[in-house]
Amino acid sequence: MSTFAIGVDLGGTNLRIAAVDEHGTLLEKTTTGTQVARGRDFVINEMCEAIRAAVTKLPTSTLAGIGIGVPGIIDMETGMLRESPNLPGWHDYPVRDEIERRLGTKVILENDANSAALGEKWLGAARDYDDMLMLTLGTGVGGGIVFGGRVWHGARGMAGEPGHITVEPDGPPCPCGNRGCLEQLASASAVVRMAREAIARGSSPALAQAAEASDGLSAKSVYQMAVQGDGAAQQIYRRVGWALGIGLADLINLLNLPIYVIGGGGANAWDAFLPALLEEVRKRSFVYRATAPEDSSPGRKTIITRALLGGEAGLFGAARLPMLVTEAAIHEGVRKRA
Ligand SMILES: [Zn+2]
Repeated sequence: MSTFAIGVDLGGTNLRIAAVDEHGTLLEKTTTGTQVARGRDFVINEMCEAIRAAVTKLPTSTLAGIGIGVPGIIDMETGMLRESPNLPGWHDYPVRDEIERRLGTKVILENDANSAALGEKWLGAARDYDDMLMLTLGTGVGGGIVFGGRVWHGARGMAGEPGHITVEPDGPPCPCGNRGCLEQLASASAVVRMAREAIARGSSPALAQAAEASDGLSAKSVYQMAVQGDGAAQQIYRRVGWALGIGLADLINLLNLPIYVIGGGGANAWDAFLPALLEEVRKRSFVYRATAPEDSSPGRKTIITRALLGGEAGLFGAARLPMLVTEAAIHEGVRKRA
């Protein structure tokens, strides 16, 4: 009998649920809007209903468990959300235990950026590697570290926050309390802020015109202008690449991983920020220079590459979570019998 797991991506705007088998094949998928405003109990009810419906469609397979990717900080021991700006009212609520109780199966909560990293490790850009780091460029900058095929949580489940590495000591203030975080220089919100600053300086009539348009300024529209040759838009993306390069140089020196994956919507501007990123990484990281893939020296290479799974990474990563628990239990059993 084949087994499958349910992956849930619980975002502030969308609730997505997928049934995935142990080989990574997508068996079922549903997407609904997350009606956060209707309250926690409403969302949990809807989620449990959708999971039950998906499981019912697969009567000949065994459910290994449910993994849920959630935006915010999770207490891995208690299965509670410690902090989640997108899910008000969920604080100190036993999310994991409540869903386990309702559905009678194992539930694992994980931070959504960690789930995305795990998805890219399992089935995406880093599938041939055991160790990897992922940067997710979205409204903010998230990330996840995978060692030996598993998410690295640190002591209290809070590891893997490369978005808050300091890139510019006196740079723009960040809600985390620091200044000049990578997130303040490389996220979609940062791109829009930098575009507004360029408009305020009067250095880009074209950006000013775009800001007047009905859909306004977005990271996407700034990128499109960079592609069309607008100097100010290109300069913004060079700054994004510069910031990412500084952050990655530190991470490469620290971790010497074989692969660094960049995903999220912001990665669509890859060609606009990559040259500045590589220039900066080369300048600042001797570990990168010694292992750069363009050099012909033998040995392990440091790869910096785009994510492959797009918005599905978090969903697949969440489904992978219960499978890892099952594999660990089997491994433990074998070890005990030996
Ligand atoms: Zn920060």
